Amino acid sequence: MPSRSASQTLRLPSIDSLLRHPACQPLAQRYGRDALLASLRQLLDDLREAVHDGAVEGVEITPQVLAGRVGERLAIQHRSHVRRVFNLTGTVLHTNLGRALLPEEAIDAVQLAARYPLNLEFDLHSGKRGDRDDLIEGLVRELTGAEAVTVVNNNAAAVLLTLNSLGARKEGIISRGELIEIGGAFRIPDIMARAGVKLHEVGTTNRTYARDYEAAIGPRSGLVMRVHASNYAIEGFTARVPTAELAQLAHRHGLPLLEDLGSGSLLDLTRWGLPAEPTVRQALLDGADIVTFSGDKLLGGPQAGLIVGRKDLIARIKKNPLKRALRVDKLTLAALEAVLGLYRDPDRLAERLPTLRLLTRPQADILAQAERLQPALARVLGDGWSVGAVTALGMIGSGSQPVARLPSAALCIRPDTSKRLRGRRLHGLETALRGLPIPVLGRIDDDALWLDLRQLDDEAAWLAQLEQWPREGAST
Ligand SMILES: *Cc1c(COP(=O)(O)O)cnc(C)c1O
Repeated sequence: MPSRSASQTLRLPSIDSLLRHPACQPLAQRYGRDALLASLRQLLDDLREAVHDGAVEGVEITPQVLAGRVGERLAIQHRSHVRRVFNLTGTVLHTNLGRALLPEEAIDAVQLAARYPLNLEFDLHSGKRGDRDDLIEGLVRELTGAEAVTVVNNNAAAVLLTLNSLGARKEGIISRGELIEIGGAFRIPDIMARAGVKLHEVGTTNRTYARDYEAAIGPRSGLVMRVHASNYAIEGFTARVPTAELAQLAHRHGLPLLEDLGSGSLLDLTRWGLPAEPTVRQALLDGADIVTFSGDKLLGGPQAGLIVGRKDLIARIKKNPLKRALRVDKLTLAALEAVLGLYRDPDRLAERLPTLRLLTRPQADILAQAERLQPALARVLGDGWSVGAVTALGMIGSGSQPVARLPSAALCIRPDTSKRLRGRRLHGLETALRGLPIPVLGRIDDDALWLDLRQLDDEAAWLAQLEQWPREGAST
């Protein structure tokens, strides 16, 4: 039973005196008087209730203590919902963690575009209205060999817009082996339907021949589509018509070939020891009339969808009213131009483009880093855990090269407990790491928590917050 005497012994200052108290002044300055007042009221209510319930002993609480507590509450309430995290999952282009990190050149360009008026749709040469795609057209043509380009919000939008512009009310011919789902409810058959294109699937899941396409082409055909199966692999007894042959076949019947490259790449990645990924230039050379790809996958830029190819087709795409709904903003264009600019100097690209730098980080480097950090983590976690610096396998991510593994290294944390309790302790540890000021995200696999260090650039910040880690967090 709640004791009356307890609530009587709680002596709290009045709201007015608190608001005037010097300890609260910096809070009023920082968060505003209204927020401070609301938070103080809530805190006093909570304290009275806690004492009433007998949850805390009644005591005299000083204004300084109250200001401290209110300050903590306000800091949490006003914390941005967009939070930086450490991506130690081993997946470099992690869709849920924002994919590519921008190079400094792009960050500068974004700042400029954010701060000042700019020639977004204004031709400084003629003084007339311009087109925002013109800002990057020259670079894209130079880097891909395309005749023209238009940019939209992401590659999903690029596919939707292209299909709708070139194939609405007609049939789109596509192999059954390419009717893929990319995740986040992006399925090729659904997108085709939404674009108003009638799906005409040909061949089988594992084998599709030129004669299958040939037999499908008729008066209702509008386009032939090819989708790069980026997030899965068909292996074994397979057949696929090479793009060059498919393009010839489509052109014989007066149809455009549309190729969704997904990630695509502007350069041959094998030059850096990475798995081969089809390049945009090659797809165009092979005869694809339109190629679409993402800005924030292997390209390493901002979220965007690039549509490149034949000038007459791009002109039709740009005239589609949907283009207006799917266009990119000035910040994206500014970042994209800066990223594309780096591609002019392939020799220095791996130093300057974070995506490529991270993907090509040598395993020996990462392992040395793991060995360097292992003692600190082991000390913080204390008894009950074993921490190893070990080799590990990561992924490119975002559907790029799903089968390829990146040789990497990790801190591998195992609970020293019976198998029965391991899951719960690992889950507790994972939760505690997620609760750090800069949340640390790893991956649980094989009864262990793996922190893949390929992407740990800011070692000092990581260590600093580890040192402050509450022991309870570590020892659950
Ligand atoms: C990733 C991907 C998409 C979607 O691209 P977003 O930029 O994520 O919208 C479409 N098609 C393929 C083949 C992809 O790999």
